[in-house]
Amino acid sequence: MLKKLKQTTLASLKGSGAFKLVENSRWRRQRLLILAYHGISMDDEHLWNPAQYISQELFRARLNLIAESGCTVLPLAEGVRRLFARDLPERSIVLTFDDGTYDFYLRAYPLLKEFNYPATLYLTTFYSQYNRPVFDVACSYLLWKGRERSLDLNGLVGQDVHFNLLSERERTKAFEQIKQFSQEQKFSAAEKDNLLATIAQKLGVDYDNMVSRRVLQLINPAEVKSLAADGIDVQLHTHRHRTPTERELFLKEIEDNRNVITEMTGTSPSHFCYPSGVWSRTFLPWLSEAGIESATTCEIGLATPQSHPLLLPRLVDVSGLSPIEFEGWVTGISTALPRRQ
Ligand SMILES: [Zn+2]
Repeated sequence: MLKKLKQTTLASLKGSGAFKLVENSRWRRQRLLILAYHGISMDDEHLWNPAQYISQELFRARLNLIAESGCTVLPLAEGVRRLFARDLPERSIVLTFDDGTYDFYLRAYPLLKEFNYPATLYLTTFYSQYNRPVFDVACSYLLWKGRERSLDLNGLVGQDVHFNLLSERERTKAFEQIKQFSQEQKFSAAEKDNLLATIAQKLGVDYDNMVSRRVLQLINPAEVKSLAADGIDVQLHTHRHRTPTERELFLKEIEDNRNVITEMTGTSPSHFCYPSGVWSRTFLPWLSEAGIESATTCEIGLATPQSHPLLLPRLVDVSGLSPIEFEGWVTGISTALPRRQ
């Protein structure tokens, strides 16, 4: 209901010329819209997880709208610098991509080149070096792929449990059980990968094919190197996609991540993105200590000169965001509308 009302409101605001007024205003000029993407589907990932994946067709439509709106797409470092110097050009946007999945290389990168837009890739590095499907997401995807079947975890995770995978609730339960089991057993990455292969076999999903097509895998070091050489800005997202609450462990995550990225790209990254959007004020002095210049969250909004540089909001673009809602964010007018957090 709220969504419908919002779309109607946005449409009438657009009709009345308010979009133009706001997007050309001094108010918008002091703000930076940082867009966040996770994956651009290789095939059906957006149907499995519409909040994390969008289709390539939708991504192209977004870039078209950005171009038609006369936005200035800036590199992250320049956008952040000019935001705080109050020197942004009109309708400023920064494009960011989290994690560094192979679909970025295959689906997003060619479009970015076509539109000649700069972009930042927040790369988590463990699964870039260990180039197999990322356990958590691949497990969830497999259970969805095999949803026509039921899954018997007896003998697999040591418990006699049956799941009807057609139900989303059952899939979540199965996922939690598998994840918990792998944690309790302190499985290595290779053991987790074997577990995925066994589950895939039980569900009649061709795991070897999924692996060879690089579905839900990260870009490898050679690909990171070539992307960086071609102008993609590779920045920090922790080595193992986690933010420990102990200072030493937190700093180690950043150090490991930074060392691997520096080795791959030849440059030392200093911009950070909180994995899974999890942030805490406790992290801020640690990030400063690590020499981090900016950090982005998944809190929705446009960054302003009053924003904390280590807590910059972003708009996480999802499949369910309609064209008019997206345009509302590009103009900036959506910041004034009520929204669910
Ligand atoms: Zn992430």
